Amino acid sequence: MGSQEVSSTVDWQGKHVTVAGLGVSGIPAARALHERGALVTVVNDGDDERARAQAAELEALGITVRLGDGATLPPSTELVVTAPGWQPDKPLFLAAAEAGVPVWGDVELAWRLRGDNGREPAPWLAVTGTNGKTTTVRMLASILQAAGLRTAAVGNIGVSLLDAVLGETEYDVLAVELSSYQLHWAPSLRAHSAAVLNLAPDHLDWHGSMAAYAADKGRVYEGNTVACVYNVADPATEDLVREADVEEGCRAIGFTLGAPGPSQLGVVDGILVDRAFVANRQKQAQELAEVTDVNPPAPHNIANALAAAALARAFGVEPAAVRDGLRAFRPDAHRIEHVADIDEVRYVDDSKATNTHATEASLAAYDSIVWIAGGLAKGATFDGLVTGAAKRLRGVVLIGADRALIREALTRHAPEVPVVDLDRTDTGAMSEAVARAAELARPGDTVLLAPACASMDMFTNYNKRGEAFADAVRARADESA
Ligand code: ADP
Repeated sequence: MGSQEVSSTVDWQGKHVTVAGLGVSGIPAARALHERGALVTVVNDGDDERARAQAAELEALGITVRLGDGATLPPSTELVVTAPGWQPDKPLFLAAAEAGVPVWGDVELAWRLRGDNGREPAPWLAVTGTNGKTTTVRMLASILQAAGLRTAAVGNIGVSLLDAVLGETEYDVLAVELSSYQLHWAPSLRAHSAAVLNLAPDHLDWHGSMAAYAADKGRVYEGNTVACVYNVADPATEDLVREADVEEGCRAIGFTLGAPGPSQLGVVDGILVDRAFVANRQKQAQELAEVTDVNPPAPHNIANALAAAALARAFGVEPAAVRDGLRAFRPDAHRIEHVADIDEVRYVDDSKATNTHATEASLAAYDSIVWIAGGLAKGATFDGLVTGAAKRLRGVVLIGADRALIREALTRHAPEVPVVDLDRTDTGAMSEAVARAAELARPGDTVLLAPACASMDMFTNYNKRGEAFADAVRARADESA
């Protein structure tokens, strides 16, 4: 199957396809391919009750499912379609490479099947980066909607791309969030325009190296037709644009929190301005929105808004729709979410800050902070983070398995900052963390949950961690009311 073919040119009838992984992407992939006449075998490492129930449903349709062995490539396989999270060095992929069998991820499959239902495929505006993807994609969808376009925020955000391209709803354009894993497995994806928001070390165990991670992120620019949007403050993103093979006429567009140069979007006197998609970009700038239209107007979030605006403008959206879309946007839960003010102290839930790069952004958004941090460090180090924030820390409350790593960084770089080290992981731990943070806080301060760590040592996921924080804060607010 050549890389430029779309599904309508692929004869699926009788083709042996192995779907790797039962799950959110594997099940719809198996069904879609089976419906097109492919002979589908699903392979899955796990063999638990849930997997068996899912397998039974697929088997009832005539799909073969092999549980408990995701390593062996079925001998007649002509194509592997994998769940994005499967690590590239798995034996299944080594066997596929040896046999010359192509491997597609869920995004590649959606890209190839688009238009397969007889409709004109909607162009994709794609967003990737280490942090800010979901926020930016949702801002982008809000702007596109404000422009009267039929759109949806899809992809890594939790809405299946396959459903979006094959479903009943017609779209003019899709706002697509892509993870580095998805991009790794999407060799022929060609977006209308794309943005890489930032690049910081993350998921390096999966990709093998920072260079490999960056290269996978950079794939989002391949074949762009109108704009490759990069972060002026993060030159690695611009390097990726330079390395990409794009369509003739496709432009590099920067976004910056400073005054924009030609072919950039930026900020001047509290106004988001566009010096890229205007008639005379040497001399003119177009006002798009005010900084206060961005919710919340923290620096990193203004950067997200500028990236979303750049993609929308690349698609031809008018300035007023950028403003209206940003005003209408409401952030998702646990992302710099203001929970309550108690005794003139603001309580903010950024449980989604699961790595140091995200936490750095939220610590930069407040002047005087009682910081609640800790959890599973995933191999991270905290020296840079602590050094950058030291001056703004009123105090720190540490929770979770790897809290000693953060404590050591604080001892090295901010020895004068009071630290409470909570040595408990039971369900009441978060409420004690909030109580201890409240003791440290002074009027005007912000108590910020931005753990810089994953949550699974104490909670099911970051949502549960954020809820535990918000519940504890609300309980205090009720007491003090
Ligand atoms: P993603 O989908 O990439 O995980 P989200 O939009 O869900 O990103 O935001 C995750 C966390 O990253 C937020 O809680 C916030 O702390 C932080 N964040 C958001 N945007 C940025 C950005 N542009 N730069 C750095 N950190 C950011």
